[in-house]
Amino acid sequence: MRIALFGGSFDPPHVAHQMAALWAIATARADRVLWVPCHRHAFGKQLAEFHDRFEMCVRAAAFLGERGEVSRVEEQIGGESRTLMTLLRLREERRGASFTLLIGADLVEERTRWAGYDEISRIAQFLVIGRQGAPRPGQADSPPLPAVSSTSIRARISRGEDVSQLVPAAVLDHVRARGLYGWRT
Ligand code: ATP
Repeated sequence: MRIALFGGSFDPPHVAHQMAALWAIATARADRVLWVPCHRHAFGKQLAEFHDRFEMCVRAAAFLGERGEVSRVEEQIGGESRTLMTLLRLREERRGASFTLLIGADLVEERTRWAGYDEISRIAQFLVIGRQGAPRPGQADSPPLPAVSSTSIRARISRGEDVSQLVPAAVLDHVRARGLYGWRT
């Protein structure tokens, strides 16, 4: 089983996340995409509660059927999320599986500053998803995906703007039901 580990804040998950997961499966880069919402952000970003982001990931990943899965591993480890710890724990729990790290092109530079980056790159390969607006498009493995971001979605929701083009409908139902990001009815 080749698992693409897809980590992120997912605050909230959006359609470009779904496109990235679809690309990994459709082009046979992976057998399964494992969405791994972070527990707390390593660089101190304030996030919606873990259980909300987990639930929204479940809804966003559902279209993949058994080729999609959402993990609580970073909640189980606790504290600030670190990719190396997550990867080591998952390798321990799922012996026989191989892992690649699915990341957006905006993280290509940043990843070298992750704790344990050298060890991470020894034990897992990266699959880089192109992202419109990200530097050095030639480094990506996939064509560039649209410049959708959770940050702009949160801002638009807080201003009462329509985000139904950008957020999966089932995710938006959860945002609405929980009044996340300053949702106004
Ligand atoms: P934020 O705006 O809060 O930083 P984000 O939209 O980048 O959020 P994350 O949850 O941080 O979303 O992203 C998880 C992963 O998906 C990261 O590897 C990120 O680079 C990638 N990703 C997110 N949006 C895109 C996109 N539009 N195109 C390609 N990759 C993306």
